Amino acid sequence: MSCLVITELEQGTLNRQSLATINAATNLTDNIDIIILDPKKKEDATKVNKIRNVLYPSKNYSNILAEQIVPVILQFVDEYDFILAPSGTFSKNFMPRLAAKLDIQLVSDVIKIHSKDTFDRPIYAGNAISTIKSNDKKKLLTIRSTAFIPEVVSDGSAKLVKLPDFAEFSKCRFISSELSDSERPDLSSAKIVISAGRGIGSSDNFKIIEELADKLGAAVGASRAAVDAGYISNDYQVGQTGKVVAPELYIAVGISGAIQHLAGMKDSKIIVAINKDEDAPIFQIADYGIVGDLFSTIPKITNLI
Ligand code: FAD
Repeated sequence: MSCLVITELEQGTLNRQSLATINAATNLTDNIDIIILDPKKKEDATKVNKIRNVLYPSKNYSNILAEQIVPVILQFVDEYDFILAPSGTFSKNFMPRLAAKLDIQLVSDVIKIHSKDTFDRPIYAGNAISTIKSNDKKKLLTIRSTAFIPEVVSDGSAKLVKLPDFAEFSKCRFISSELSDSERPDLSSAKIVISAGRGIGSSDNFKIIEELADKLGAAVGASRAAVDAGYISNDYQVGQTGKVVAPELYIAVGISGAIQHLAGMKDSKIIVAINKDEDAPIFQIADYGIVGDLFSTIPKITNLI
């Protein structure tokens, strides 16, 4: 049995999500190949433990379109029993297309691998876990990376294999991507996240959250109510329709704890809630809670660090 993992680069290196997907693949087989979309990074990728081959293209295709990558994968897909990619916007682009071309049911957002055909995935905004048995011969999975530990990059010795040339696709092409420019850690992979909700009251008030985030080396997040109110852009939204995070420490400030928000952060190792309403539902899942006004509490914490 063998598995192909389609990896994602972030600032030139394999991101945490890809390494966690490789780790998930080790539950399925020992024969794991990965695709890395920038040939300059291929040597680094060979050092990831437990992989057999690193497949690389002739030029940098980090921003590849579904229309380009799917025909390439289809050329050698027969060699693999499993095709995995990290859950997220990158794989949402091409995995459904690949699944449709292969007439296979994609199993998305896998959080647990029971066996080679049985997987857990969250449903109803994480309120229930569905256990799925796939009867497809070939399995296509996207992996929720917060549920797996990243594979170690140290003494791997994978072989390098060049991919066939990618056909240029004329009907649509990649033009540019606009990434939010931030010195802070990436929200999806940060060890500490501090998120603010409607209670923050305005975009200017986010300054106090950012000051604390900078002291802690944390990423900033937000609830949908804060995003909808225009306090912060939707790249920062945590929850069912935002990013799913599972940091070591999640600090929820002025967030009530609606199930749709919890769906995006409840797997955090330690949850701290700061809310002026002692009955706010967020306190039910918080490990530590501070009942108080965020405008006095947050600056006090920042000054103490
Ligand atoms: P509120 O519920 O209004 O809570 C604000 C909190 O701030 C209150 O608990 C209040 O006591 C506290 N507060 C106010 N002032 C202060 C102060 N000065 N000091 C301390 N505390 C204070 N939500 C998400 O977050 N992410 C999602 O991805 C998401 N997806 C959704 C998808 C769907 C289909 C639907 C229907 C909803 C979704 N929501 C999502 C919205 C969700 O239901 C809630 O409306 C939202 O999470 C509420 O955000 P909030 O906690 O910031 O606001």
